[in-house]
Amino acid sequence: MMRSAMLAVTNRTATRKLITDTRVGKAVAHRFVAGNLLSEAVAAAAALNSDGLEVSMDYLGEHVSTAPEAMTATESYIECIEQIGENKLDANVSVKLTQLGMGFDDGLAAANLDRIAVAALGVGSTVTVDMEESEHTETTISLYESAQKAHGNLGIAIQSYLHRSPDDIERILPLGGHIRLCKGAYAEPASIAHQSSAAVDGAFDHLASVLMADDDVKPAIATHDDARIEGVLRQADKRSGPWEFQMLYGVRRDRQVELAGLGHAMRVYVPYGEAWYPYLTRRMAERPANVGFFLRAMVGK
Ligand SMILES: Cc1cc2nc3c(=O)[nH]c(=O)nc-3n(C[C@H](O)[C@H](O)[C@H](O)COP(=O)(O)OP(=O)(O)OC[C@H]3O[C@@H](n4cnc5c(N)ncnc54)[C@H](O)[C@@H]3O)c2cc1C
Repeated sequence: MMRSAMLAVTNRTATRKLITDTRVGKAVAHRFVAGNLLSEAVAAAAALNSDGLEVSMDYLGEHVSTAPEAMTATESYIECIEQIGENKLDANVSVKLTQLGMGFDDGLAAANLDRIAVAALGVGSTVTVDMEESEHTETTISLYESAQKAHGNLGIAIQSYLHRSPDDIERILPLGGHIRLCKGAYAEPASIAHQSSAAVDGAFDHLASVLMADDDVKPAIATHDDARIEGVLRQADKRSGPWEFQMLYGVRRDRQVELAGLGHAMRVYVPYGEAWYPYLTRRMAERPANVGFFLRAMVGK
């Protein structure tokens, strides 16, 4: 599968150095990442808000292995939420639980997620739990369930490529909240995930209809794929509850503004921070044309 091959190459140390240590590599990253600093992400969010787009801010980082790193990430999120409040941004935060301690201390991750949810409540905002590799799916959903029951201002991402996702959606629907439906960005085996685009798309369309038919949750349709978007738009008239589209910073910017201009809520996922390499490799793996963009930049074209 193309995605697995691409991720295998980008995981090599030499490839990582080529991208992270060169001016061109950093320039390519800048297309998808708002900047290294929170202030740059705040400026990007304010600009998107003024174009009528909502924002979800992601302090980049994942798979930390020590408690101090998890605490630092949590503090960074709380600072980000304070900035959302101070700047009156129409924004929330997206968090990866392996950045908060999940994997080596699930209790610590739960406590950190609680602190972030409470801080978000304080500024009238919400928290979305990103979904990571399948080895973490079960714990991610369990920690989400506890936090959502306690605070009520969370949501979670569900990946249509996973065979388990229909059951997961049924399990979390009673908790309300917002549910971000995406295709899934990691390399997973056939025993765990659909492998063909047709199967992933078919599962996406089915799960999107399940979410759009339930007015007690807020569906967040996270895709750049026009066929998926059109399918959801056909169901939107029948829906009375809130829902939104979501897209990534730097991807299909014109389409983001166009859909917002048609009156649809559109939230843009804005990553920032120094740990941008794994995020960038997933964007390259899902669209080989982005690798071409990088290679052309390397040879100065
Ligand atoms: C807001 C948001 C949050 C997400 N959160 C998660 C998460 O928590 N967990 C997770 O596993 N995945 C997450 N993803 C990633 C998602 O799973 C997909 O990997 C990614 O969105 C590409 O799938 P697609 O639906 O856009 O369709 P695709 O079939 O991949 O793409 C459809 C079209 O969109 C355009 N496009 C897609 N990707 C790019 C790109 N990188 N650069 C330029 N153009 C592109 C191209 O025109 C392409 O033909 C998220 C995606 C979004 C939009």
